[in-house]
Order: sequence, then C-alpha cells, then structure tokens
Amino acid sequence: MTPAAYVHLDLEAVRHNLAQVKRYAPNNKIMAVIKANAYGHGITRVARALDQADGLAVARVDEGVRLRKAGFSQPITVLQGFVCVDELLLMLQHQLDAVIHTPQQIELLQQQGSAEPALVIWLKMDTGMNRLGFKGGDFNAAYRQLANCAIVKQPIKLITHFANADDLLDDKTRRQIDLFNDAVQGYPGERSIANSAGIIGWPNVSLVSTQDGVRDWVRPGLMLYGCSPFAGKTGADFGLKPVMSLHSRLIAVKNVAAGETVGYSGTWQCPNDTRLGVISIGYGDGYHRHAQSGTPVLVNGQRVPLIGRVSMDMITVDLNGLPSAQPGDPAILWGEGLPVEEIARHADTIPYTLLCGITQRVRIVEQTSE
Ligand SMILES: *Cc1c(COP(=O)(O)O)cnc(C)c1O
Repeated sequence: MTPAAYVHLDLEAVRHNLAQVKRYAPNNKIMAVIKANAYGHGITRVARALDQADGLAVARVDEGVRLRKAGFSQPITVLQGFVCVDELLLMLQHQLDAVIHTPQQIELLQQQGSAEPALVIWLKMDTGMNRLGFKGGDFNAAYRQLANCAIVKQPIKLITHFANADDLLDDKTRRQIDLFNDAVQGYPGERSIANSAGIIGWPNVSLVSTQDGVRDWVRPGLMLYGCSPFAGKTGADFGLKPVMSLHSRLIAVKNVAAGETVGYSGTWQCPNDTRLGVISIGYGDGYHRHAQSGTPVLVNGQRVPLIGRVSMDMITVDLNGLPSAQPGDPAILWGEGLPVEEIARHADTIPYTLLCGITQRVRIVEQTSE
C-alpha cells in the first residue's frame, strides 16, 4: 500500500537541470543557489548532486557553515553576507565568500586588519530592487574603500540582482543591466547578474561578459529544481525536469448528497451527488491552505479536482470521474505528471513557496539514478 505523505526526490533531475543551465549559459560559471534547505529539497543531498557546479550560494552564514561541516570544499557564497563581527570571523574560518551591501559591513572589514587567506567578497550594487546593495556613487565609493582593505581578496567581485526578470515585457531588467555595466566598467573582478529568469529570459543582456577572458557567474536557483520562473509556463517548456514529487494516498471514499457542504466553513456545496475522496495531505505537510476548489490532484494517475477547504492533515476531492478509486490508492499532489507551477497558480502563490514549504513530518524518499 502507498505510504502516507512522502516526497520523492529525483536527484538525477537535479543533474539534468544543471546541464540545462550550462546549455543556456555555456560561457558562464555556475553558482548553484541552494538557500532555504535547497528550496526545501535538502541542502546536503542537493549539494552532492550539484558536484558539477562551479560554486554554491546560500542566504545565511549558518547555511554555509553547515555545508563546510558536511565536507563541501567548492566556493560558497553567502548572499546576505555577515551583520556582526562573530559572523565575519565564522566566514573567514570556513572560507565563505561574502556579499557586501552595507557601510557597516565595510567598517567591520576595515577593523579586522588582515587575514590569511583573505576574504573573497562580492560587492553588491542595488540597480533597482531596493533591497540589498549600494546605489550609484555610493557603489563606486564602497568599491574604492574595499580595494584598500587588507582583509579583502582582490580583485573584488561584482554582483546585482533582478527585480522583474520574470516579466519579459518589462524594460526594467534592461535598465538594471545598463546601470550595472556602466558602474562596473573598468573594474577587473568577475561579475554575477542573472538568476533563473535572467538566464532563460534575458540571455543576451544578462550573460554576456563585458570583459575578455573573464567567465562571469550565473546564479540559478528555481530552474535547478525543474521549475519555470515565468508565469503560465512549466519547467518542461525549458527542458527542465521536476525534482520533487509530493505523494500521499486516499484514506476514505464516500457518497455525499447534492446540496451538502464539504469541509470547514462549508465553502464547497456539492452541486450533485458526489463520490468524495479524502486524501491524507494538508497544510501540516506543506500543501498550501489556499489551494482552491478545482486545484488538480492525480489519483491513480488521473486528474480529479480538489473541493472544499484544505485542512491540516487532509484534503477532499471529487471522484465522480473516477468511481473505481478506493482507500489506499495513490495520489500525487505535484511533481511528475502534475507541475507544481500549476498548483501554485491555483493557490495564488509561486512554486518557490510550495517547494520551500514541505514540513518535517513528510518522509523523504531519494532516487539517485534511473
Ligand atoms: C535566490 C536568489 C537567486 C536564485 O534565484 P532563482 O529565481 O531561484 O533562480 C539568485 N540570486 C540571489 C541574490 C538570490 O537571492
């Protein structure tokens, strides 16, 4: 019998998706983004599957330390850098590369004197995201200060981040790139601009190095997990394979009369006599509570619609189209055969949140080769 709530991870798909990134960005180095527990897939197992990437990136210092302690020796960039001297020392100790985005970080670096080996840094320019980074003249002033910092490995690397790259009609991406390229002109360090949406959607502007002989870096996250960063598309449209499939099983099947309501608050009223299935999955597992009636679920490989509210441990589906279904039959909530991008749309969210949201009680089943 199918076990209750489990995630199946296809780690061969991670390798396949990394190879796809290389096809999109053949002249770039790849910094594989595995923050947030590798978007919910498990940071160390995904890092192992990404041994062909040139480097790894995480959001926070503790994520980088965890990777070093697990034995990973490739460059690891901490996208938020450090906020205090203790974190700076940890980064030096574990040779984690720091994104520098505030004057306070620069002060801490100046106070530290020197280090062996020196700290690899990425100076971040805010080109319109208005989140992390220095703008305009402040960016160039920060560069000059850091160029004189004994603790900093030269040349300084240069980084910015897109705000709207998933919108192919928005000119903002091109303006961000122009701002960045103007500001870094003449600086010798490696650059990094593109996330998944930049790699797939803006290759001509966001991948091309402005300098001879330097291989700039791309920073794919979502596409490594097989998903499309563009609304209305799925990873398959870009040659990507889903890594995560969320599974469970039917635990009850019953008849509900026309006019009866189903679930909390009675948000669903059966328009006709309904063969109702109850599946053991809910927001306690990371199945989004805002998935609406009509969200597709695969039962025995066939699509049936969710009806009523998502509970903590269960959802209800309409089995009128699948009258032979029985308790114990398998259900897939997303993944193979049912793109998570589609579920995200029905839940008014993005695939990122669904992947990141799988909870502790869900068992993980790994598959490493076909
Ligand atoms: C998360 C993140 C990425 C990866 O973005 P995707 O959209 O998942 O490809 C790249 N760069 C930075 C700075 C990030 O925070």
